[in-house]
Amino acid sequence: MSSMIEVRQLQKSFGSLDVLKKITFDVNPGEVVAVIGPSGSGKSTMLRSLVHLEEVTGGSIRIHGKPLVENGKYAGSADIKEITASMGMVFQHFNLFPHLSVRGNLELAPRTLKKGSPQEISAKSRELLSKVGLADKADVYPSMLSGGQKQRVAIARALMLNPDILLFDEPTSALDPELTGEVLRVIRQLAEENMTMIIVTHEMNFARDVADRILFMADGEIAESGTPEQIFGSPRLERTRMFLNQD
Ligand code: ADP
Ligand code: MG
Repeated sequence: MSSMIEVRQLQKSFGSLDVLKKITFDVNPGEVVAVIGPSGSGKSTMLRSLVHLEEVTGGSIRIHGKPLVENGKYAGSADIKEITASMGMVFQHFNLFPHLSVRGNLELAPRTLKKGSPQEISAKSRELLSKVGLADKADVYPSMLSGGQKQRVAIARALMLNPDILLFDEPTSALDPELTGEVLRVIRQLAEENMTMIIVTHEMNFARDVADRILFMADGEIAESGTPEQIFGSPRLERTRMFLNQD
């Protein structure tokens, strides 16, 4: 079985700061990988590199076997577009367009890219809003929504272009605790539908429950990886233990 995502010796520095230090991992089709680790360890940079929101300084990324970057050299822009189009990303701060309705947020990208007729695109946005439990909010503006609702809109929007990989960067970190459940339920449902996902999260119980594999990042490296049972039950490193035992 070939990997959906192959990351080899990935390096990223900002000036003299080495943020990713030769990171290597794979994600298989249908796998849910949770990334945990202290603030500043490079989790967001790693995720952003996969969708070309950051340009790396070395190493390789292949998505579906297609090289996005090979030994630090990027593919051509048409290939980059095609490769990154197979991935959807959900951010901590939702990043909804405030001047567009919920439906407008979902339909902007597919309409701009002409991915289907206007009728097909509206049918799809209705379907996805029902899926995340927001069928009645299509014509509302983001400012009228709770954080949990905004994040569910962001997830529906990420699904509009039929990605086969979803990346989440701390999807519940900006939410009041009572609103995290509704967002985690949607992500859990996607996991049950076998969506391939990488989820950066501080929700340890959720990671333990929903992930097939955990990557613990520290100081720009994958310090330890394993099944939730291994990482949470018997972490190999003192550093992992310390991280898991805080708060
Ligand atoms: P995490 O998501 O694990 O908290 P980040 O990937 O956001 O970590 O950041 C890793 C390190 O890279 C931090 O030291 C951060 O300050 C630095 N960093 C991130 N983005 C930039 C940037 N655009 N310019 C300079 N330094 C950055
Ligand atoms: Mg981050």
